[in-house]
Amino acid sequence: MELLKKTAVEIRKALLSKEVSAVEITEAAYKRIDDVEDKIGAFNSLTKDYALECAKNVDKKIANNEELPKMAGIPLALKDNINLKGYKTTASSKILENFVSPYDATVSKKLRENLVPVVGKANLDEFAMGSSNENSAFKKVHNPYNLNKVPGGSSGGSAASVAALEACVSLGSDTGGSIRLPASFCGISGFKPTYGRVSRYGLIAFASSLDQIGPFGRCVEDVVDLYEAIAGYDEKDSTSLNMPVGDISKTFKNDIKGMKFGVIKELMADGVEDSVKKSIEDAIKIYEKLGANVKEVSLPLLKHSIGVYYIIATAEASSNLARFDGVKYGHRTADAKNLMEMYTKTRKEGFGDEVKRRIMLGTYALSSGYYDAYYKKAQQLRRLIKDDFDRVFKDVDVLISPTCPTTAFYIGSRNEDPLKMYLTDIGTICANLTGAPAISIPSGFDKDGMPIGMQLISQVLQEEPLLRSAYNFEKETGFNKQLADL
Ligand code: GLN
Repeated sequence: MELLKKTAVEIRKALLSKEVSAVEITEAAYKRIDDVEDKIGAFNSLTKDYALECAKNVDKKIANNEELPKMAGIPLALKDNINLKGYKTTASSKILENFVSPYDATVSKKLRENLVPVVGKANLDEFAMGSSNENSAFKKVHNPYNLNKVPGGSSGGSAASVAALEACVSLGSDTGGSIRLPASFCGISGFKPTYGRVSRYGLIAFASSLDQIGPFGRCVEDVVDLYEAIAGYDEKDSTSLNMPVGDISKTFKNDIKGMKFGVIKELMADGVEDSVKKSIEDAIKIYEKLGANVKEVSLPLLKHSIGVYYIIATAEASSNLARFDGVKYGHRTADAKNLMEMYTKTRKEGFGDEVKRRIMLGTYALSSGYYDAYYKKAQQLRRLIKDDFDRVFKDVDVLISPTCPTTAFYIGSRNEDPLKMYLTDIGTICANLTGAPAISIPSGFDKDGMPIGMQLISQVLQEEPLLRSAYNFEKETGFNKQLADL
């Protein structure tokens, strides 16, 4: 257990000094999973033979004094919508319940090359559609800080496994906030890189123009190291950026004197819980103390981001999910009299309610006659929202806001009203619409001891100042050190 409280950076030190072996760390992670997983529900499946094999290779390298990649031997949870060759990838959907990946996603290939023991496939909202992980077709994930509350979604398993010390780091995917929101609810750091920085090849597509894979960790340094292990150009993803990732690990510990921060006025307005607001106000003072200049900025079009997102994301999802038809992958209905019935029954049985709702919304928005009124308008507004951000970034380096207006809510409390659930993402969606990098880091606790997350957003491709700002705040406050008491 004590071993698992270590961050990746600390584990690496212990590995290199031969204080502990990679196999011991991996086994400790499985012991912890045995102890707490019943309560948490973070994993859809475990990949024990893979993880132990990988750990053995790490130990061999250490014994031979060979050079070790930074993340080697660090137990990682992989979101179950990312393919790992030879293991199940279900996207928490019945339609893929028995689907075994025939290939590695590019990030999985990189994890293999970096000798990262993947301990299991992390639970999520079905096809990453949701904000609470309650949409998993298999089981709910429980928040390690309060088991009656949600961990956030859709990467709830990825976040909860790290907060519950079942894994040291994890990967998630973020289409409208699915890394940052669960990071915020579970008191850890979660980073969505610039769109195109990390290959989407082998990630089960939800909304392709918004999806981005990114890391979770219990400190910013772990997030930086894991990001550097998975980022970079990939010819297999046509939207991958063919640009150097840079060497952020060399500079992110530098100071932030003279840096300019903008607090997003619209995200500090009514509806933000007092404790959340107060924590951001305190953060502003900390940044000022660290030598940064902070002012308020306004993004008047931000209020449209949820509407725009739910048209674009559902439109893209309706097209992406057409491939699940009982022919190519996964589930096929047992009895169908003809081809059309086979399609409809397969999809009826395989998809959950939220996925069906999104396919219907998306198909409607794209249908002729409505395309101009909805989809085209949404694309136009997306452009204007981006212009709004570009204008603000002319005089600030990093934007600050709460990740979410509230802390984690009770399981079941927002299920009746999908619109209310959709509003959970008011702070996070803008970074997906604009492609900007954004991170959520712990910024305090509410009166019930639930973690609060602060979101930082920077201009597209400006990961370095973003992660530097996150690191400096973490170093000054240490909120990340307060672990869940499980
Ligand atoms: N909560 C948002 C949705 O349900 C975002 C999900 C995500 O980022 N994958 O669409």
